[in-house]
Amino acid sequence: MARGGGVTRRDFLHGAAAVPLVWSAARTAERDVKIERVEVSAARYPMRGYFKFFTGARGSHGRAAVFVKVTASDGSVGWGQSVPIAKWSDETLETATIALQDYFGPAVVGRDPTDIAGAHEAMDAAVAGGFSTGMPIARAGLDLALHDLAGKLTGRSLAEMWGRARGGPLTLSWTVNARTLDEADAVMAEGRTRGYRHFNIKVAPDVVFDVELAKRVRRGAPEAFLWADANGGYEPQTALKAAPALADAGVNVLESPIKPNRISGYQALKKQGALPILMDEGVVSPVELEEFIRLGMLDGVAMKPSRCGGLASAKQQIEMLENRGLMWLGSGLTDPDISLAATLGLFGAFGLAKPAALNGPQFLTADVLAKPLKVADGAAEAPDGPGLGVEVDEQKVRELVARTRAGDSGKADEPRRGG
Ligand SMILES: [Mg+2]
Repeated sequence: MARGGGVTRRDFLHGAAAVPLVWSAARTAERDVKIERVEVSAARYPMRGYFKFFTGARGSHGRAAVFVKVTASDGSVGWGQSVPIAKWSDETLETATIALQDYFGPAVVGRDPTDIAGAHEAMDAAVAGGFSTGMPIARAGLDLALHDLAGKLTGRSLAEMWGRARGGPLTLSWTVNARTLDEADAVMAEGRTRGYRHFNIKVAPDVVFDVELAKRVRRGAPEAFLWADANGGYEPQTALKAAPALADAGVNVLESPIKPNRISGYQALKKQGALPILMDEGVVSPVELEEFIRLGMLDGVAMKPSRCGGLASAKQQIEMLENRGLMWLGSGLTDPDISLAATLGLFGAFGLAKPAALNGPQFLTADVLAKPLKVADGAAEAPDGPGLGVEVDEQKVRELVARTRAGDSGKADEPRRGG
């Protein structure tokens, strides 16, 4: 352990956290299936291309993911994946791993694996919420694993568990995170080569550049659904100038123009009405979504189960938005295969119509599935079959975890602060 009781990355990857921790639960009644153990392992998926969230000393090591394997007392297994991005929100590979290992995992051991609502109550008791759900990205990994396990135990897919049709295939949107206009052309060209026809652009804080970028992408893709995401990067007054300018440049929707705690700013943007205003960061549980709707802050939400504690919360939010006649778009956190499978299952079951900004297949170069997800020509199929509908190749997981440890041990730790 590090001085001061913290955990350094080296400790984390080579010490206790490197060995999956296992909790055992006494079996109760013979026929009752219980969650017997929760195993957690940390890895980084190798990446290609430039994406601002995966830069810097740690981000550039790859896309962080915490694998969650839940084993039931009858030997059935469910897999999930937590996908923190330090530069996107306040959860990291290290915090998510510890939260799952030491808090969320033990909270669900011994429980009925099909009681997902009960599992969330147990997780609420283990890590209290501040403004909203506590450590939602970490928690999503366990929520996904429980959906996978519950589906496998009952022989039902996600859609079947929800009494819906599988849906899909889902059209995908290619992410253009360009630092220059020439780079935007090159990134777009690559997307086209891979069969993509719809684009989402990363904007803010420079409105002048953003408008030029939007015009450039619109000119190159006149028929595309063009979606701009500022990731909270404008100041409120700047966002009020950006929204009409981006609309004139051909943008269809504006996501996260300002930070989610700028409530009056969102109200002003919605009232301005230059573009449909979507929120992403800041909408974690259905409770604040209800409040934000009531406060007139948004026209819709960029949904992603990985952000909001998993499928249970995301499904409830989609239903809430649909009941209010509000928009929901499909988005993600550069999800690797397991998280992507869950997301596609959700979006397919709820009939997502607009192109989904699911850019895992664009940026990630590894997978851990026995059979890869079907992604081709800018579209993805919602997986079929029990649970998340995918089979995890555990050997591939072990190799990715080992490669992550080897890669990290070859790089210098960042300077430590405090302690
Ligand atoms: Mg977003």
